[in-house]
Amino acid sequence: MKTIYMDNNATTKVAPEVLEAMQPFLSDLYGNPSSAYIFGGKVARDIREAREQVASILGASPEEIIFTSCGSESDNTAIMSAMSTGKDKMHIVTSRVEHPAIKGLCNEMAKQGYRITEIPVDREGHLDMDQYKESLTPDTAIVSLMWANNETGVIFPVEEAALMARDRGILFHTDAVQAVGKIPIDLQNSAIDMLSISGHKLHAPKGVGVLYVRKGTKFSPFLIGGHQERGRRGGTENTASIIALGKACELAAKRMEEENTRVKALRDRLEKDLLNRVPNSRVNGGGAERLPNTTNISFEYIEGEAILLLMDEFGICASSGSACTSGSLQPSHVLRAMGVPFTMAHGSIRFSLSVYNTEEEVDFVLDKVPPIIEKLRGFSPFWKPEGQAR
Ligand code: PLP
Repeated sequence: MKTIYMDNNATTKVAPEVLEAMQPFLSDLYGNPSSAYIFGGKVARDIREAREQVASILGASPEEIIFTSCGSESDNTAIMSAMSTGKDKMHIVTSRVEHPAIKGLCNEMAKQGYRITEIPVDREGHLDMDQYKESLTPDTAIVSLMWANNETGVIFPVEEAALMARDRGILFHTDAVQAVGKIPIDLQNSAIDMLSISGHKLHAPKGVGVLYVRKGTKFSPFLIGGHQERGRRGGTENTASIIALGKACELAAKRMEEENTRVKALRDRLEKDLLNRVPNSRVNGGGAERLPNTTNISFEYIEGEAILLLMDEFGICASSGSACTSGSLQPSHVLRAMGVPFTMAHGSIRFSLSVYNTEEEVDFVLDKVPPIIEKLRGFSPFWKPEGQAR
């Protein structure tokens, strides 16, 4: 059975060009980049090139790039650094819809006495900019707002938010894990101080990430160790994955236009035709600016997990907006923050496409999904065929 992979916000396939670029570093080129001899020096030079490739997709300088192990480490490093350099400042501003890498850390910080403000979003996922402005105080050490939401693809106005923070002397971090490679980013004239990337979301392998730290930003390392990354992140470099991430950024920059034209058109057709064919369905965040590859659709009166199981029988991979917590299905914190009603939130599915998806795959999903929804609604005590709740 062929796999129809439409879960690229969860992780992506390693691009063949990326695999080819990294392979020598898993075999012949195993030298330590810190070693003094030529064998290590060659690896150090290749890491330097990868750093330039990553810097280039961000409009940043190579010295502003710190390689890490993942997006979560980058997020944690940014917040912890701000808390340690922010002297007595005890306040963090973030949003209600952040990834657990930020949300979970902030929950821990709250237990340690820090004050956390989570800015709400509206029904379409727009950030409440008035509340955001009001939340910034002299005690605020850092703002952390995601560039694009992993579940809905909704894009936050991070440039505008960063300017407001800078005006008040507050550090600004953005979790751009879902944005990099999908939409253009240029940090050159931006007020963003720190930004997180994760390799496995843009066709590099799992286990590598980046924290961008603007030149001049006060910084305190999270991982203390050797002098790697100019003393900002200890630990011998994950050479092969760093090379891979550099190549993946170079490829992503070249494919940005395709992502925003062909992939977006595929996403739009999938979304429009599913809504047309399935009554009582709705796009979450459909009224907001979104990533070109993501759609989050609620199919009312059924469970997302059940849809996933039946799609899996046809090899279709996507995600649901509910997670199993202690045996009961809970809608995600993102959909709850948006005020999506329970009957809608439970039956939500996220399709996230990539440059590797085709028209034929979209046709296949359009052929299989509507009958799955109809079948499941047949078992629902709340559904009657005219499309009204009982
Ligand atoms: N931030 C966002 C928005 C994400 O979607 C993810 C992964 O799903 C992460 C952070 C964490 O990245 P990683 O898996 O590399 O730790």
